[in-house]
Amino acid sequence: MVPTINKYLLPLEDLIKNNRKYIGYFLIFLSFVSLGFLLYPNSTKDSGGYAITLLWIILWIPIFSRVFGLKIAQVVIPLRRELGILMGTLAFVHGAGFMIAYPSMVASTSFWWSKGSITYTAVGFVALLLSIPLTLTSSSWAMAKLGKNWKRLHRVVYIIIILTVLHVVLLRFSRNFEIAPVIFLCIYFAFKILEWRGIKLYTSENKIYPIGQKWLCIPCGYIYDPLIGDLDSGVAAGTEFSGIPDDWRCPVCGVTKADFVPYIEWQEQETLGARIVSKRYLNPTTIELIIETVDTLTSQIWQFVSFVWDDEQWEFTRQYSIAKQDGRKLTFLIKITELGRGSRILSTLSTGTEVRINWIFGTFRLQESQNPKVFIATGTGLAPIYNMITSLPIASRGTLYFTAATATDLFYIDQLKSIEWLDLHIHITREEVPGCIFGRVDVDMIMASPDTEWYFCGNPRMVTEAVDKLTKKGYTRIYREEF
Ligand SMILES: Cc1cc2nc3c(=O)[nH]c(=O)nc-3n(C[C@H](O)[C@H](O)[C@H](O)COP(=O)(O)OP(=O)(O)OC[C@H]3O[C@@H](n4cnc5c(N)ncnc54)[C@H](O)[C@@H]3O)c2cc1C
Repeated sequence: MVPTINKYLLPLEDLIKNNRKYIGYFLIFLSFVSLGFLLYPNSTKDSGGYAITLLWIILWIPIFSRVFGLKIAQVVIPLRRELGILMGTLAFVHGAGFMIAYPSMVASTSFWWSKGSITYTAVGFVALLLSIPLTLTSSSWAMAKLGKNWKRLHRVVYIIIILTVLHVVLLRFSRNFEIAPVIFLCIYFAFKILEWRGIKLYTSENKIYPIGQKWLCIPCGYIYDPLIGDLDSGVAAGTEFSGIPDDWRCPVCGVTKADFVPYIEWQEQETLGARIVSKRYLNPTTIELIIETVDTLTSQIWQFVSFVWDDEQWEFTRQYSIAKQDGRKLTFLIKITELGRGSRILSTLSTGTEVRINWIFGTFRLQESQNPKVFIATGTGLAPIYNMITSLPIASRGTLYFTAATATDLFYIDQLKSIEWLDLHIHITREEVPGCIFGRVDVDMIMASPDTEWYFCGNPRMVTEAVDKLTKKGYTRIYREEF
């Protein structure tokens, strides 16, 4: 059902996506216009109802997106800030209008306390006060200024929704006790828990793939290209993957069609829920992050995952290579940069935080061969290389050149030194350090046989320069990743 709804809402989704900025401006404009109602304080009663409705919409958006898989909700997520400003302004107009219209009532004790209990007005007033800092900080500027405290502050919204429900219940209590808002609140928190736990109540839609879509064999990396077909097995050029008979087998490793996934440069699959189980600084700018996925992972070897971050501005992704995979636990080595958007989120995350990821098969992979292997990494480019090195059989032979600017920038040295078969060379470019080689790695100086496999990861300039040199020398087995 969700795919059908998504399909019907596609035009609206596109409309919002393409005009997100203008819709945001319009909502801010509406906020200013709504302030005009203060000129007619007696008519501000309804704005309370609008504010509560908006608050519910804001709170349900992520649930609709993450638990029910509604794409339109995902598109609306970035608009929550502007919706929040409008909601806060309407709540303010409602409260301030009440005070302007009934000043003597506000001054009396019965405004706060009546018939031995707190009044609906007092509860509403507290909710209004709490919503003011949230409304004032619903901007990118405030987010940047408050850093990790921004999200903490905005968790107050859960208190506000509870107070708002209480406000409504107490208001109507004099006439008739209404249980509906309380039930609605419980339902909301039940779904919120599902969202926090990364539980999804939808199955992914059957995708229709574009003509010419290539497919990747997960176990061996063979790519089926419809343009070429598989003539040896009788599959003519021009045959789409869906048109290949079901008894067809991978020409390289013999697995069935079920072991193929659509090949795109990055193999993005379903978003998975995960939780941070450890985060520690290896040096002032590098963290080791360990996450545990909610679901059991497939047995495939992943190259990297795409983290779906949400800094309340837009949802965005950042890719990090897997340095270690141990069951449901994945280890990453990540460089934190001062102005990086993902870095800013990463530096605020703590153990226990829920995150969302897409697993990605990737193409920077260890070749299953007996060829000699030379690994060259700078900084956190060590992550995928460390994964490769540690997944090689114990009897293997390989050489690693690991480069950092200063001795302080080094990390994982003990782990690397403990790999007995690894021939480790540590390069430091900005200072002389005992036991390390001063200066950059020069591939011209490395003695290697023509069948050597070269694996590069890290600084794009280092990678490009070295790969150019090796290509000129006639090496063909060169694998690279830059970031
Ligand atoms: C396949 C793949 C695997 C990867 N694996 C890893 C990995 O294992 N480890 C790892 O550390 N990284 C990895 N990366 C890189 C990672 O995905 C991010 O690109 C990187 O962490 C920077 O993201 P960010 O959001 O912190 O910075 P971004 O916001 O993307 O900024 C990029 C750079 O620009 C600078 N910058 C941003 N805004 C400004 C500004 N206003 N003024 C001046 N400078 C600015 C930042 O300081 C940063 O250096 C990988 C990338 C890919 C594609």
